[in-house]
Amino acid sequence: MQKKIIALKELTGNLWWSWDTEAKQIFEDLSPLLWERNNHNPVELLRHISNDELAARCQCQLGERIEGVHARFCEYMEKKDTWAALNAPELTKNPVAYFSAEFGIHESVRIYSGGLGVLSGDHIKSASDLGINFVGVTLFYKEGYFRQYLNHDGWQMEDYPLQYPESLPIEKVTGPDGKDLIISVNIAQSEVFAQAWKLKVGRAVLYLLDTNIPANESHYRDICCRVYGGDQNMRINQEIVLGIGGAKLLGALGLTPSVYHMNEGHSAFLTLELLASELAAGKNKEAAMEAVRSRCVFTTHTPVPAGHDRFSRDMMHYTFDKYLALTGMDFEDLMLLGSEDPKNTQGLFTMTVLALQLSRAANGVSKLHGQVSREMWQHLYAGKKVEEVPIGHITNGVHAPSWACGYTETFWNRVSTGIEDMTLSREAAEAALAKVTDEELWSLRYTLKRNLIDFIYRYLANQLFHQHSMSGYNQYDAMRSDKNTLSPDILTIGFARRFATYKRAPMIFSDLDRLNRIINNPKMPLQIVFAGKAHPHDDAGKDFIRQIVEHSRRPQFTGKVIFLENYNLGVAKRMVSGVDIWLNNPVRPMEASGTSGEKTVLHGGLNFSVLDGWWPEAYNGENGWSIGHGETFENYEEQDRFDAEQMYQVLENQILPTFYERNANNIPTRWIKKIRNAIATIAPEYNTHRMVRDYANQYYLTKEGK
Ligand SMILES: *Cc1c(COP(=O)(O)O)cnc(C)c1O
Repeated sequence: MQKKIIALKELTGNLWWSWDTEAKQIFEDLSPLLWERNNHNPVELLRHISNDELAARCQCQLGERIEGVHARFCEYMEKKDTWAALNAPELTKNPVAYFSAEFGIHESVRIYSGGLGVLSGDHIKSASDLGINFVGVTLFYKEGYFRQYLNHDGWQMEDYPLQYPESLPIEKVTGPDGKDLIISVNIAQSEVFAQAWKLKVGRAVLYLLDTNIPANESHYRDICCRVYGGDQNMRINQEIVLGIGGAKLLGALGLTPSVYHMNEGHSAFLTLELLASELAAGKNKEAAMEAVRSRCVFTTHTPVPAGHDRFSRDMMHYTFDKYLALTGMDFEDLMLLGSEDPKNTQGLFTMTVLALQLSRAANGVSKLHGQVSREMWQHLYAGKKVEEVPIGHITNGVHAPSWACGYTETFWNRVSTGIEDMTLSREAAEAALAKVTDEELWSLRYTLKRNLIDFIYRYLANQLFHQHSMSGYNQYDAMRSDKNTLSPDILTIGFARRFATYKRAPMIFSDLDRLNRIINNPKMPLQIVFAGKAHPHDDAGKDFIRQIVEHSRRPQFTGKVIFLENYNLGVAKRMVSGVDIWLNNPVRPMEASGTSGEKTVLHGGLNFSVLDGWWPEAYNGENGWSIGHGETFENYEEQDRFDAEQMYQVLENQILPTFYERNANNIPTRWIKKIRNAIATIAPEYNTHRMVRDYANQYYLTKEGK
């Protein structure tokens, strides 16, 4: 019995379980109530169950299931013939060090805010699956990102529940002497200390730096408090701990990364620390810079100039004064590294410029974004034409095993050797598709949508309970009446992501009368589910949420337009698996890639999107729908009007008629043909196994980028 309990505890100690359906099912079966209440956190779950109770539970069939999953886990951890071992053995030696300000691995580990974090999380999981020696570096945020709830007016409120290390699958990193490993960085005139935590993600390890320790003055303890919290000063301090602290930590651990991968400019200060050690080793300035450059690669994510971190000269001076004195670097040289204009160091220090200047290779995250980035940074490369600017692209993907829900996974397991294999190539996907009938695919859709609707009702009941709002209760009651219930027979659109304004969440409400006619068309009705958080400082984003909530309360939309609070990885997974259409209407070309639409594909969801980010590459006319054809207008209002009109037309004339066109068996054959095309063309390409292999081949292994 003891052995089974030990096996169970070992499973909770490695986030491998977060992409293993059977492991998750075991935790849920131990106590469905505690599993829900504790945000699907198995460490917390086990803290609530006594060893005696566990022993009793392990005596039945559950014990055998634990042993089975544990055996698979051990096999996974010890697997020798991984992709990297067979194809890139260099990457099994010294680790790839991947720095990111956020990692979205599972909803119970709240160290992420949105798409960038989800990408990092999916990247580290695939790196583990592929057998690359891989370490991630980030911060341990004791309050994480906020929990969202809405007040009576639909205005976003934020809550910051603490996350306690003892409730997470993390352990303290200790030094050779067995004591806590503490590193320090210089910020202004102070020495700021950080301890490190270690989180196992399959075979990969994620290190989290934490300044919340007694050695620090209180304002420095708070550096590791909130994801993207605070002002510019907090931001630069976080980035020093992440970049410089992270580089020092790897050194203290005795790791010699073969390559440092900066995921977004937040971690670019790490190049300064590498530079300092090259200088300390006696290299001259040019040789030191070349040495740093030869070990770093950089991924940019922001197609909007204002979206890049920039710090004032004064702030740089104040913050780096002591660091420069200690490392012997010159302030003007430092400013030059982050300056957009090499002749003028009086301006702002731009993290992206630093990262570009000290990397051997750089990339954007979709083909279009690569192009936009080359144009945006051309001025840094005097004499180069746009197409010669050394910024390439690798299009983002998603980690298929993480984003397939249990039901979908079982569905594909019947006709393939698993979704991981099924997403290896178009041939593999087509082989699986050939073995399922239209009826089976349609029944997959129906079940997944019914599951989503069940989830929505449970979730809403909880949400309305917390809102303590009578209008909320009334809305919930109204929705439960026969007329206004969500139905698996109705075409269902999902829209969920961060509520950054460029994503234009309320666009579908531009013409309320027209939307009313669409939603309440008795022959071809529609229902829409929204979710998403606005950054706490983004009042315009919060107003978008408020508008949608207000619309959802209009009589004509009650029970047909839903807003789910507190979007997170768990809610995302429910939504992407259940909806028929994933809607995406950002202002082109502001969505660098976007990934949420890629998550829907294996569930039989179809994308309906502006030709931005990954979609222009993936869209072939048969595997979803586009909003417009990539038209861009100088004037924002004109753009909004045009895109909204395009959206309505495609909805009315194509999407709805195709969905409701049925054969004699009530099967929408044309719709299902699109699902098949989407699975065959999108699933094998837009996943992180392909993406990480591309990074390995094009960026981690070679010295020359692009
Ligand atoms: C996938 C995901 C995102 C990214 O959404 P985009 O539409 O690509 O911006 C953001 N938040 C969560 C919780 C996600 O799962």
